[in-house]
Amino acid sequence: MLRGPVAEINLSALLHNFQTIKNNVPNRQIVPVVKADAYGHGSIEISHLLQKQGVEYLAVAFTGEARILRESGINCQIIVLFDKDAGECIELNLIPVIHSVEAAHEFSKEAKKRNTYLNVHIKIDTGMGRLGLTGEHILDELLTISKMPGIHITGILSHFSEADLKDRTFALNQLNKFISIRDSLSASLDKYIFSYIANSAAVMSFPEAYLDAVRPGIMLYGYSPLSYQISPDDRNFYDKLIPVMTVKTNILSLRNVPEGTPISYGRTFITKRKSKIGVIPLGYADGFSRLFSNNAEVLVRGKRVPVVGRVCMDMTMIDVTEVEDVKEEDEVVIIGSQGKEKITAYELATRANTITYEILTSLGSRARRIYV
Ligand SMILES: *Cc1c(COP(=O)(O)O)cnc(C)c1O
Repeated sequence: MLRGPVAEINLSALLHNFQTIKNNVPNRQIVPVVKADAYGHGSIEISHLLQKQGVEYLAVAFTGEARILRESGINCQIIVLFDKDAGECIELNLIPVIHSVEAAHEFSKEAKKRNTYLNVHIKIDTGMGRLGLTGEHILDELLTISKMPGIHITGILSHFSEADLKDRTFALNQLNKFISIRDSLSASLDKYIFSYIANSAAVMSFPEAYLDAVRPGIMLYGYSPLSYQISPDDRNFYDKLIPVMTVKTNILSLRNVPEGTPISYGRTFITKRKSKIGVIPLGYADGFSRLFSNNAEVLVRGKRVPVVGRVCMDMTMIDVTEVEDVKEEDEVVIIGSQGKEKITAYELATRANTITYEILTSLGSRARRIYV
């Protein structure tokens, strides 16, 4: 047995999710976000698939991620959301997102030095409190940047901090601020300014924010970012998304133990009956959080069974006493379906008090991936 879990990536589910976004956001650019190795799904494979669908842009976090894509033959435009490496952006023909006047200077200097120019997007902080032009002088700063040699502003963007909430007051504030800056810039420069702000949450529930392009991440991978119970009207998208990742492993060892047997570090679980305990080669080193100790279920032979005792670095114990005919090597589903049962990243996220994003990136980035 190869060590650890396998992540099965269902490419037709990904295509389906992409098509669902396209159908619901007509006549706009879709900028799929493939940062963090495509949320743990493998950025090379996912990007090639999307490029074949004709996307004009992809978005990554850092130039290193873009380099991997370029070297694998991705030739569409790549937007780099967070990096400042001007040299890499020029060499790899990337579109950097610039967050400050100082950074813009550096890009300008580097482009001039190389006797070339760069198309850049400028980030406006409208309330995320992370990166971007902020404060009273955003328009002046944009105009300053627009005059710098070697860089051309071809777009502006912003990012929502809570478009996933039902109360959209703050998101609407952010959107209005962004639109007002765009309009002022457009008037000052007397040209159309390509602008985009919508993440998955906005794509799903906030059509006013679609603007020129949308930037979905998590939806592509089959999960809703919305943190409230979806109303029937909003189910449009929600029901249509298909989770792309399945995570599986196999039972490494089966042991019959008497009542009163302590299981794993700290003896946090003690069998209350004669039990059959399965040991699975999956632990926190594989991204299966220690928070799942005595606090998750997995599927074996179509049945939900509990994790018992503490999750170890690369092992976890499960109680399979009630699974008929269970055998070593039996498949164990961590995320995915087996028979009628299904475990989602959302279920795991809820148990660990986190979000699906963290579950997918944790498990997906360490598993051996296979594409189906
Ligand atoms: C990650 C990210 C996105 C995508 O967010 P989702 O919630 O996954 O849709 C969009 N824009 C920026 C700037 C991001 O960092």
